[in-house]
Amino acid sequence: MEAWQKMLQASITSPDRLTRRYGVDPRPLTEVAERYPMRVTPYYLSLIQSVDDPIWRQAIPSVEELEQGHCCADPLDEEEQSPVPNLVHRYPDRVLFMVCSECAMYCRFCTRKRKVGKQQMQISGDTIAQGLAYIRRHPEIRDVILSGGDPLLLSNEQLEGILKELRAIPTVEVIRIGTRMPVVLPQRITPALVRMLHRYHPLYINTHFNHPDEITPLSAKAISRLADAGIPLGNQTVLLRGVNDDPQTMRRLMQKLLAIRVKPYYLYQADLVLGTEHFRTTVEEGLEIISALRGHTSGMAVPAFVIDAPGGGGKIPLLPSYLQSLGDEVVLKNYRGDTYRYANAQPKPEELFQMVVNQKN
Ligand SMILES: *Cc1c(COP(=O)(O)O)cnc(C)c1O
Ligand code: SF4
Repeated sequence: MEAWQKMLQASITSPDRLTRRYGVDPRPLTEVAERYPMRVTPYYLSLIQSVDDPIWRQAIPSVEELEQGHCCADPLDEEEQSPVPNLVHRYPDRVLFMVCSECAMYCRFCTRKRKVGKQQMQISGDTIAQGLAYIRRHPEIRDVILSGGDPLLLSNEQLEGILKELRAIPTVEVIRIGTRMPVVLPQRITPALVRMLHRYHPLYINTHFNHPDEITPLSAKAISRLADAGIPLGNQTVLLRGVNDDPQTMRRLMQKLLAIRVKPYYLYQADLVLGTEHFRTTVEEGLEIISALRGHTSGMAVPAFVIDAPGGGGKIPLLPSYLQSLGDEVVLKNYRGDTYRYANAQPKPEELFQMVVNQKN
């Protein structure tokens, strides 16, 4: 067994382990952990500084998870958009392919809380073969995103088996892996894993840091190994109440990510997932965070703020309104709130005609 697998085995999976260390009454949390599995690696647990801090809130069950709220089990209609089990084909040229049902840690805000780490998420050699066959049959798929669960929880051999099959499909241009391992179990990013991944370029990794305290010497080292293997790294952050819902925390997170060679990719408005209502913020708060980033710090540090539309509509980008009005003169507002005017070009005759048609409709 590899060292990271031993660390995974030493994870805490039930709330009674919290009593000794934090003096928390585990009884009300037991019901929660029965409904939604709990697993916290010793490493991630060591990042907790106090009860209910941003690290705690992401990792430790809360009775608030039993509230109903506005949320539903599968708000993004992933099951509806799965032509074969565990593969979501929502966009024309890319698919989300779930290849592992478990995670090193069960994040309390997870979008796939309905199934991740539970019996009903059935991933087997057979479902993986069905997914690969679907990708082979659909040459329009040029980008495959391996997800789960966490694909890096598979052994190097299992993961390589899938990567090899994908690379043998000539129409697959890009492979992406979505993983939280650098954040919750950075010891997983071993030299052997990185050497293996390096053979399957172009391969991208999107990781999932939500708070600046998650960037530690160990997670930075894991990231550095991946970056040194030429793997472009992006980060997806979920906007979470009580974790990162203020501009200072978010700015620090994005700056620290750039400093470890990770490009902030998406900032997600929290999905309407059953059991996660207590993490939701308003959309206005997300826009405020983007306003506090753009212009105020490196443009490279600014992710796209998106809502994944309920009902499977896909990711929809949201921007604070920098554009005041269009026309002969375009009126713009900069990051400080000052107004600027830009003289627009004259439309070509056919564009004018199209504008008239559009106005009539
Ligand atoms: C997020 C997502 C993708 C990838 O979207 P990009 O904008 O290309 O990163 C693909 N399929 C599904 C189902 C997704 O949720
Ligand atoms: S690692 Fe990702 S899939 Fe797993 S519980 Fe966390 S958010 Fe969900």
